[in-house]
Amino acid sequence: MEQTLVILKPSCVARGLMGEVIGRLEAKGLIVAGMKMMQLDEQILREHYSHLVDKPFFPSLMKSMMATPVVVMCVEGVEAVRVVRAMAGVTNGRNAALGTIRGDFSVSGQKNIVHASDSPENAVVELARFFKPEEIFSYETAAYSYCYGDDDLKD
Ligand code: UDP
Ligand code: MG
Repeated sequence: MEQTLVILKPSCVARGLMGEVIGRLEAKGLIVAGMKMMQLDEQILREHYSHLVDKPFFPSLMKSMMATPVVVMCVEGVEAVRVVRAMAGVTNGRNAALGTIRGDFSVSGQKNIVHASDSPENAVVELARFFKPEEIFSYETAAYSYCYGDDDLKD
């Protein structure tokens, strides 16, 4: 199965929405393979958002991402990267469709509740950035018996 990185941003943690977001991921049938709270610093954010360091909003983004601890999650499932991106919605919460996490809980282009990896390749790099191998677990869940059919698991 595929794994993707989800970060519950300070806009999620500080507003008491962690359970809400984790509940949606669990209810969908995704597996939480790793999860921990951590304080981000400038160094890890410069790596994680390296595609944005030259943008005018970067200092403000850094500040918002360090405002409280965040929760980093390794979320697993068939096509988990695409599924979680769809659940997150588009970047700006004001444009995100209702029913998505950002569409339901954010009015902001920056304080948009979650990060989700945007490709399987980036997910591998991002998970290695935030998790040690021993912090990601494989354990028995309902996923194989009750969430997926045989066809879903063919490849
Ligand atoms: N962001 C921002 N202003 C912008 C665009 C992005 O503050 O105009 C922030 C926002 O928090 C976003 C993050 O930078 O989630 C990463 O941007 P990216 O384009 O990678 O969007 P995402 O993949 O999170 O949808
Ligand atoms: Mg992105």
